[in-house]
Amino acid sequence: MERYEYLVIGGGSGGLASARRAAGYGARVALVEAGRLGGTCVNLGCVPKKVMWNASSVAEHLADARGYGFDVEVRGFDWGALKRARDGYVERLNGVYRRNLEVDGVERIEGRARFVAPRTIEVAGRRIEGEHVLIATGGRPHVPAVPGAELGISSDGFFALESLPRRVAIVGAGYIAVELAGVLHALGAEVVLMLRGEVLLARFDALLRDTLMEEMSGAGIGVLPCLHLERVEREPDGTLAMLSAAGERHSGFDTLLWATGRVPDTATLGLDAAGVAVDSAGHVVVDALQDTGAERTYAVGDVTGRWQLTPVAIAAGRRLADRLFGGVPGARLEYEDIPTVVFSHPPIGTVGLTEEQAHERYGQSGVKVYTTHFTNMYHAVTQRRSATAMKVVTVGERERVVGIHIIGRGADEMIQGFAVAVRMGATKADLDRTVGIHPTAAEELVTLR
Ligand SMILES: Cc1cc2nc3c(=O)[nH]c(=O)nc-3n(C[C@H](O)[C@H](O)[C@H](O)COP(=O)(O)OP(=O)(O)OC[C@H]3O[C@@H](n4cnc5c(N)ncnc54)[C@H](O)[C@@H]3O)c2cc1C
Repeated sequence: MERYEYLVIGGGSGGLASARRAAGYGARVALVEAGRLGGTCVNLGCVPKKVMWNASSVAEHLADARGYGFDVEVRGFDWGALKRARDGYVERLNGVYRRNLEVDGVERIEGRARFVAPRTIEVAGRRIEGEHVLIATGGRPHVPAVPGAELGISSDGFFALESLPRRVAIVGAGYIAVELAGVLHALGAEVVLMLRGEVLLARFDALLRDTLMEEMSGAGIGVLPCLHLERVEREPDGTLAMLSAAGERHSGFDTLLWATGRVPDTATLGLDAAGVAVDSAGHVVVDALQDTGAERTYAVGDVTGRWQLTPVAIAAGRRLADRLFGGVPGARLEYEDIPTVVFSHPPIGTVGLTEEQAHERYGQSGVKVYTTHFTNMYHAVTQRRSATAMKVVTVGERERVVGIHIIGRGADEMIQGFAVAVRMGATKADLDRTVGIHPTAAEELVTLR
């Protein structure tokens, strides 16, 4: 039996960050990864997604260029060339992660780990025990169990597409559905977004939801709310048709993309043998310190089902290593005021409580909200227009800022700094005291009336 002080299962955002931090403190660390280093974010998530969003933003700039006096003519768009460049970048990152582990002295083990006893796994014919064990196995796309579902692809399949689809149905209302719809539409595909409920991004502030819905519909993306799909069929001409419970038939799609959530990768992990409990969705149950309840066995990241974002997995993994090996007792990630961006068109940046959540927590009278809508000056000379909307949610007499919600050009880069202010407990008066930067969209946030 091999033994390590820290055994990390999963070489994604959380596992890599925690393993490297622990090794930095001098711990003897092994990391097991079944696939490519970097996990979902690097290989099938944030990174290739952002490259595609950048490409779709270039397409928008090209469309706007005439307004700025450029006599441009776009003669084509080579999806294959973009995919090759993107895949090459991801491969370079895989190499960077491999070298980082070597430099930090983390033992890398290739294979799929399975618990055979508490804190003991089997992988690639080896049996390994960890004094401390971290489960950071992330998740994978969920595809609904309707007949014909296999005719569609998930976000993993999106990144494998060799050419731009002509007509795409995207099923889902979360941020992945919205982002991939925007990318495909801006790059030239006809896109129909099919929602089970009435709204996009249900957990976001209503201002963001409503503005995005208007923007996407206005840009020509079909949005079909309240659609309960019952089956998928292939038509004689090879295209796909979606049939709803209400008897509607939506046909003529060459690609169907399921963006219907993600499930944790725990089914084959042998968690029973480890004495680790999961909830009804299969997420590993952890407390505020990432402890699973099984002795010296922890979990971070998407597998725990909380705030499924790369920086959250990284921060939780690092704090855990600080606590276990760095002599920082009680170190833990506070799951509050976590900023996030949706790379939609236009993008969204948001932090803190929505107006609805603030009302639930502080009552109607304790909440004051400031809102603005405008068109970014960038569009002064372009034919294409996109909206900007902002909301600041404050509570109490001091008007402490508990939420900032932005949709519009530049929101993705704007929110990080404002998140610092929210974390520090800034009040509306603090925002007002800050001199604006002119001419920017961000200055509107410090001049709200
Ligand atoms: C399309 C898409 C876009 C996204 N965009 C963003 C974004 O813009 N910003 C953002 O913050 N987040 C984004 N995310 C979410 C982000 O990718 C995840 O939150 C993050 O990757 C979670 O990290 P993790 O370490 O928990 O798991 P993962 O990164 O999923 O890593 C888990 C690793 O464990 C490995 N593994 C699983 N089981 C085993 C086993 N039994 N043995 C060994 N190895 C195993 C897997 O192969 C995988 O490499 C996106 C996700 C998707 C799908």
